[in-house]
Amino acid sequence: MSEDRKATEDRRRFLKIVGGSAVIVPMIGLTACSGGKDEAPAAAAPKAEPAPAMDKPKAMESAPTEAAAPESSSSMPKISEDNPQAKSLSYVHDATTIDASQQPRYKAGQECANCALFQAKADEEWAGCSIFPGKAVNARGWCSVYAPKPA
Ligand code: SF4
Repeated sequence: MSEDRKATEDRRRFLKIVGGSAVIVPMIGLTACSGGKDEAPAAAAPKAEPAPAMDKPKAMESAPTEAAAPESSSSMPKISEDNPQAKSLSYVHDATTIDASQQPRYKAGQECANCALFQAKADEEWAGCSIFPGKAVNARGWCSVYAPKPA
């Protein structure tokens, strides 16, 4: 019995001495086995998904690239003096036919060719005018919206 007691006391003493270390040493051993790195293995790291390609909005794909370009005057129909808008603005194909007493806004020498709104690229006889979209007006014409080209 005394031998059993002595053995028990020896075990307690041993555990007292190495008891704390008995827990720490195996943990150090496990850490050493993993290479001592704290980082997770690369294989376990989530792979970054490539960002999906940004699609062009449908509206941009179908938008004309030259929407602001004026319509070619050669493809535009000539405006008629009987056109209701032309009549309301007193448009005529030949400004020299205007009776100045009937049209006080008109001054001699005014014509579409020297109006700021005339869209001719050169000396075109017929060209667009921003007052009559989609229609060509005559370079010798005139209407009550006439505005002189800046000098
Ligand atoms: S706005 Fe100018 S270019 Fe256009 S029809 Fe009148 S006068 Fe001619």
